Amino acid sequence: MSEKKTLIFATGNQGKVNEFRQMLGDDYEILSMKDLDVDVDIVEDGKTFEENAIIKAKTVCEATHKMVLADDSGFEVDAMGGEPGVYSSRFMGEDTPYSVKNAEILDRCKDVPDKDRGARFVCVIACAWLDGRCETVKGVIEGKLAYEPKGENGFGYDPIFYYPERGMTTGEMEPEEKNAISHRGQAVRKMVELLKQEQA
Ligand code: IMP
Repeated sequence: MSEKKTLIFATGNQGKVNEFRQMLGDDYEILSMKDLDVDVDIVEDGKTFEENAIIKAKTVCEATHKMVLADDSGFEVDAMGGEPGVYSSRFMGEDTPYSVKNAEILDRCKDVPDKDRGARFVCVIACAWLDGRCETVKGVIEGKLAYEPKGENGFGYDPIFYYPERGMTTGEMEPEEKNAISHRGQAVRKMVELLKQEQA
């Protein structure tokens, strides 16, 4: 077994860092941007989740000279040509409340029949190594655009993402239930596997 490596998880969300630390075990020391007190200006101008995750991971890797993980995620609605997609947080403006964004999406899709209401959450995590190598893993949860917002749990687009297998929106699920099936949970588990293989 080789020595413990230091890894930065480039996310503003401390919850994600803690979750990752727990899942990855003792082989890696995981630091957040806050732990390092670094402030890197990142221009997220990619057209895909992969491109954005890679841009973030590589930018922080070059600035810190450490191995870096970065994620990008979003919500895709088939009837809107995949929008809001990579623009999920910027859709209708960063500061617009999700109650307003969600109402707008439901209104735009009010005449869309059930069979065309496909929607999904996507999460890509990129890992950038010091030798310039970068790899990505992806998690996807497929479902439907709901007809009305439901549920007080979760965040963002959760109230309008209906998950048919459970007969409810992800906004109605308990956090553990959502983590077990979510795009983010899947991507985190895949990245943990990849890093464990690297370290073995
Ligand atoms: P981020 O890139 O992971 O910060 O997420 C981008 C945006 O995608 C978020 O601000 C939300 O609008 C949306 N999003 C990603 N994952 C979820 C989720 O699990 N539930 C609801 N919205 C999500």
